[in-house]
Amino acid sequence: MNATHYSKEQLISYLDEALQNDEMVRIEQDLRASESLRNRVATLIRERDQGGHTVGEIWRRQRLSCPSRQELGNFLLGTLVINETEYIDFHIRTVGCRYCQANLMDLETQQSNPEEITSRRRKFFQSSAGYLKSSK
Ligand SMILES: [Zn+2]
Repeated sequence: MNATHYSKEQLISYLDEALQNDEMVRIEQDLRASESLRNRVATLIRERDQGGHTVGEIWRRQRLSCPSRQELGNFLLGTLVINETEYIDFHIRTVGCRYCQANLMDLETQQSNPEEITSRRRKFFQSSAGYLKSSK
C-alpha cells in the first residue's frame, strides 16, 4: 500500500504518540521506506515547531524510532541500503535526535581513533609476518 494514504491528522497523532501501538509501528515502518512520507512528517514537525509545539522534542525525549548502534555504525561505513541511509539521515538531521547524534559522534571518534587503527594495523602485520616466517 502506498504510504501517502495517511491523513495529516493521522500523522499528527503519530507525532503526538496518540495512536494505537500497531498503527504507530506501521507508520514508523512506512517512514523508513518512504521518502515522501518522511518529507510530509518533516514539514509537519517544522510547522508545529514554529507554532510553539516542539514535536521534535518529544521524539528526542522518547528516542522514538532510533536506529540501533550497529545500524549507525553501518551508516558511517556506508554499508546500508539507500532507504536505511536516508532514514537515519532524516532521523538525525530532521528529527535532530540528540541521543543518536551523540552515539554517531562516539562511533565516529572510535573509527577515526589513530591509535586504535595503528594497533590494529600492527597486529595485522605481525600476524602476516609470522605467517611468512613459518611458511619458509
Ligand atoms: Zn535517535
